[in-house]
Amino acid sequence: MTAHVRFENVSVRFGSHDALRNVSAEIHRGHLAAIIGPNGSGKSTLLNLLTGHHAAYSGEITVDGVDIARLRGADRAQKIGVLRQDSGPLPDVTVAELVSLGPRTLDRSAVEQALDRVGLSALADHPLPSLSGGQTQRALLARAIRHRPSLLVLDEPTNHLDVEHRIAILDMVEDMGITVVCALHDIDLANQYADDVLVLAAGRLHTQGSVTHTITREVLREVFHVNGESVITAAGARHIILSRLD
Ligand code: ADP
Ligand code: MG
Repeated sequence: MTAHVRFENVSVRFGSHDALRNVSAEIHRGHLAAIIGPNGSGKSTLLNLLTGHHAAYSGEITVDGVDIARLRGADRAQKIGVLRQDSGPLPDVTVAELVSLGPRTLDRSAVEQALDRVGLSALADHPLPSLSGGQTQRALLARAIRHRPSLLVLDEPTNHLDVEHRIAILDMVEDMGITVVCALHDIDLANQYADDVLVLAAGRLHTQGSVTHTITREVLREVFHVNGESVITAAGARHIILSRLD
């Protein structure tokens, strides 16, 4: 199986600071890959390389086998959906307008499809500023998937959401069945949803693999400086409980 996304020896330097150092990783088609790591470990820098909002980098990044440096802006926007960490001030438009507005205005049926995928059809004509935090994030997700991308890049999409809406967002994204690369702050959410985990520590890829291989006691201690314990619920689900190191 070929990788959908491949990073080969990727480094990013801001002045004298190495934000990413020789990162090599592969993300398989249809997988949900979680990027975890402490603040400043390079998660957003890595995601921004995929979305075109990046500084200079060395190494190679391919999506569908194509060097992303060769992708034109419009092609990139079709292929790669993006929900960034800080979307900035929201425009005073309706939910449907948020989804449709762009260099090429989207037709109504594509807007309806995107809103349907995130369960917001009933609010299509509501003003964006009237939405709750969870609904706003779903509207931004609808915008991110409006061109039916094969790859979705999400930077801490669950921040500022209460637990019900965090789970709802990740359930929706999981159900889309497309490749997802998602920075997550919440280690147990990554543990619940990720097919693959990339653990970043000070710009280096510390570990990559399945949740049981990556979200381990040792990694949690070394990278996050916390004590981590995995528990199995009666229903058989693994969860991670974090506490202060002794
Ligand atoms: P994370 O998303 O994991 O919190 P970032 O990728 O945002 O981390 O940042 C990684 C490192 O690079 C941090 O030390 C940050 O201060 C630095 N950095 C990020 N963007 C810039 C920039 N545009 N200019 C200078 N330094 C930056
Ligand atoms: Mg970040």
